[in-house]
Amino acid sequence: MKKILIIEDELSIAELERDYLEINGYAVEIAKDGETGLKKAKSGYFDLILLDLMLPKVDGFEICRQIRNEINIPILMVSARKEDIDKIRGLGLGADDYITKPFNPGELVARVKAHLARFERLVGKAKPQSEIIHVRGISIDKHARRVYVNNSEVILTTKEFDLLLFLVQNPNRVFSKEELFDKIWGMDSVGEIATVTVHIGKIREKIEMDTSNPQYIETIWGAGYRFKV
Ligand code: CA
Repeated sequence: MKKILIIEDELSIAELERDYLEINGYAVEIAKDGETGLKKAKSGYFDLILLDLMLPKVDGFEICRQIRNEINIPILMVSARKEDIDKIRGLGLGADDYITKPFNPGELVARVKAHLARFERLVGKAKPQSEIIHVRGISIDKHARRVYVNNSEVILTTKEFDLLLFLVQNPNRVFSKEELFDKIWGMDSVGEIATVTVHIGKIREKIEMDTSNPQYIETIWGAGYRFKV
C-alpha cells in the first residue's frame, strides 16, 4: 500500500485530502506544521508528499528544498494562491505538480495516482502490490478477506474484518471509538458507539495470545485504539 504524507495546517483540508486518498486505497498521515512534516518526510517512509505552502514553523518552500536535497519522491504542492505557485515554478524547487485550492478531490486523487505511477516507471520500482499484509504473527489477505494467526486461520465477521483491516492499514495512529464507528459502520448503521468496544474485544480474542495484554490493538485510555506495528 502506498503511503502519503499530507503536510497541511488547515485540518479540514487535510482531512478532506486524507478521506479521499484513504477511500482510494492509500495509507495517509497528516503533519500539521512544517517542522513535523519535514521530519516525517525525511524518514523515507512515504511514497508521495502533498505539501501545503503556507505553514507554521517551516514553510512549504523550505520543506520542498530540503526534501529535494535528501530524497527522491513525488512532491505535490498545494496552495490557495496562484502567485505562490508561479513563484515555486520560478524558483525551480523541484515540486512535481501544483494544485490550487480549492481543489476537486477527485482530481487530486487522479494526480496522486498519476505521479506515483510515473515515479514507479522512472525509478523502476514497480512491483506487484502484495495483497497480503503481514504484521508479526498475523497475515491478512485483503482480497480473500481471510486472517491467519501463526499460520492458522481465524474466522472474523465482516465488521470485525473491516475494523481490523482499517486499523492495520493505519498503523500507530490512535482512533477514537467515534472515528472507528464512522469509518466502519458509517451512515448505514443504527448501532451505537459501544459496538466498537465489543468488536475490538472479539477481534482480540481471535488474534491476541493474551487479551489482557494486547500486542496488536492497544487501548489508549481516554483516546481510543491504536494498532501497534
Ligand atoms: Ca496553510
